[in-house]
Amino acid sequence: MCNRHSHSGMGPDGMLVPGGFGRGFEATAGQFITIVDLKGEQAGDFVALNRADLGEVLSPVHTRRRNLSIYFKEGDFLMSSEGNPMFEVVKDTVGIHDANVPACDPTRYAVDFGVPGHRNCLENMFEPLQAYGIDILQVPEPFNFFQNGPVSPDGRMAVTDTVSRSGDHLILKALMDVVCAISPCPQDIIPGNGLLVTDMRVAVTEARPDASQIEALQCC
Ligand SMILES: [Zn+2]
Repeated sequence: MCNRHSHSGMGPDGMLVPGGFGRGFEATAGQFITIVDLKGEQAGDFVALNRADLGEVLSPVHTRRRNLSIYFKEGDFLMSSEGNPMFEVVKDTVGIHDANVPACDPTRYAVDFGVPGHRNCLENMFEPLQAYGIDILQVPEPFNFFQNGPVSPDGRMAVTDTVSRSGDHLILKALMDVVCAISPCPQDIIPGNGLLVTDMRVAVTEARPDASQIEALQCC
């Protein structure tokens, strides 16, 4: 028997996404995706694909062109690689996210830090997308929600700890049917996640969650 949450693969309480691991989910056009940083200081890499055409993906570069900004804010659209609005940012309690650097991957840890075999966002997001026939090379460039990658006036970039705190959240309205994957980043070697990898919660709902529903989602 189907229910109103059947497409997302989760109930109204959403799902816990363990720190350092990836999860996939679906949302249909018009549904709301709420992503909560439960403990704070946790970045979460996020990718999305058009459910009807997996070759059309959420695209940071197209979003930057649309918004004429390397950042996004409430009311902005996050764009697809085909130039279509894929999500509307309806709520953002943090205001600082990154869309400039790739997901951490096996090379990042093996080459840059000398730690082969470390968990990483690329493989975390690839894992659930395999069921859709996606190759690891087809995992799109991510939005790194809550990640703090300041860009200074001279153009230099950095990655440092997030400014998000326990309960901070982002609400996106899906504007097309989407397949998504998220990975609370396993980076525990350099700042980014406060050197402590923690859980997130994701919920997909028909209506925009109200204050009491958000409070329930903030509970670990
Ligand atoms: Zn990562």
